[in-house]
Amino acid sequence: MSSSALPIDRSRRRLGQALGAGAALGVLAGCATRPPASGVRTNGKVLVVGGGFGGATAASYLKRWGGDTVDVTLVERNARFISCPLSNLVLGGSRRIEDLTLGYQGLRTRGVSVLQDEVLDVDPVNRTARLGSGARQQYDQLILSPGIDFLFDEITGFDRRAQDTVLHAWKAGPQTVALRAQLEAMPDGGTFVMSIPKAPYRCPPGPYERVCQVASYFKAHKPRARIVVLDGNPDIVSKKGLFLAAWNGAYKGMIDYRANALVTELDAAGRTVTTELGDRVKGDVINVIPPQRAGDLAARLGLLNANGRWAQVDWMTMRSTAVSDIHVIGDATFAAPAMPKSGHMANQHGKLAAAAIIEQLNGRSPVTPVIANTCYSFVDDRSAMHVASVHQWVADKKTLEPVAGAGGLSGAASELEGQYAFAWARNIWDDMLS
Ligand SMILES: Cc1cc2nc3c(=O)[nH]c(=O)nc-3n(C[C@H](O)[C@H](O)[C@H](O)COP(=O)(O)OP(=O)(O)OC[C@H]3O[C@@H](n4cnc5c(N)ncnc54)[C@H](O)[C@@H]3O)c2cc1C
Repeated sequence: MSSSALPIDRSRRRLGQALGAGAALGVLAGCATRPPASGVRTNGKVLVVGGGFGGATAASYLKRWGGDTVDVTLVERNARFISCPLSNLVLGGSRRIEDLTLGYQGLRTRGVSVLQDEVLDVDPVNRTARLGSGARQQYDQLILSPGIDFLFDEITGFDRRAQDTVLHAWKAGPQTVALRAQLEAMPDGGTFVMSIPKAPYRCPPGPYERVCQVASYFKAHKPRARIVVLDGNPDIVSKKGLFLAAWNGAYKGMIDYRANALVTELDAAGRTVTTELGDRVKGDVINVIPPQRAGDLAARLGLLNANGRWAQVDWMTMRSTAVSDIHVIGDATFAAPAMPKSGHMANQHGKLAAAAIIEQLNGRSPVTPVIANTCYSFVDDRSAMHVASVHQWVADKKTLEPVAGAGGLSGAASELEGQYAFAWARNIWDDMLS
């Protein structure tokens, strides 16, 4: 790192490298930039809301690429980051939630002002955010990465009381730990019932990975237990052949998978769910993953212009197409073709938004994006498989589309890929939180 001011041309070339060739190669880290000499004028103040995969990455890369020329504040309601990736392994029993919990000190060291608070509202005209603590934050540029919230109302009976006992564990944290405790308390010979909402939802392969993790735990500790999967989709949404290989192999006879079985009703006290076709299924532990939409703040700000659920964005800059001058990234976006709602994708969105803002603050047009995704799924405590894709800007369609022939799918789950998956997690946590 040198101490000279960030040279505009060099920084521009670096942005292009990180989002282009680097991303296409699946490189997580962008490139280190050099901080400008002291006394450099600040070009702008950027407020980032949400310190998950998208927001933390955006905050980090704004500083990496903008140095002292950009003032970055990150508002996150939680004191620490808890990773959804690997959280299914907590249910399987091979990881603890503490293993997936990290602090925001690295971002603070980089120069990001990290506030543990909640953004309640935003006034886009006066560029001000109102926080739960009563404070107000002025900004020049705003990035929202609020993740998802749940549409509990779409399932009759999934009221606040029911939510105390019927868990989703689809945001890693206390619910993950509580669901693991329910699994541990379940008698051998009991039934675990899991429901999957219609796509799009956060992490397409995540529910099927969860089935593997619960099956792995049952196989070792409750061999007479069984699993019923009620899938609201017409088929397994992701890595079908690879998941079926595990279910018909190591877990043969343990899993009753039912397609087109959308859960529309819940009787929490009776531990029973009902599908839209009227099938009633009773379990000892019920895990309902509810339908989802972009996080509440995005809804409150009128950003959900795709089916009232997701925020459409200009993929060149990640700006909302509903409210000008707000960038939306991560799961909250209405995905481009074949783009999953994943932590890896949110990380890439964060870099894209950071790059677009740095370019704008310097009076330049945005770089042409190429981004990539890799999602690993564990079938037991050590073997995993992946799906990968590359997405590039298609000018005439004004969107990102998958690059034919790039990316792919594992041939089979393996312990080697399990090691890659753990390394992927360590790398991406480091990339976003430092
Ligand atoms: C079980 C499971 C397994 C998964 N496995 C993988 C995997 O292996 N690989 C992968 O790539 N992805 C995986 N995912 C998906 C991944 O977790 C999400 O896609 C990713 O978290 C999306 O990032 P985000 O920034 O959009 O949202 P998040 O990471 O959820 O971050 C949103 C943050 O915003 C904060 N927030 C929201 N509103 C406010 C507000 N008003 N004020 C302040 N803070 C606010 C929240 O507290 C939260 O920390 C998995 C998900 C699950 C549930």
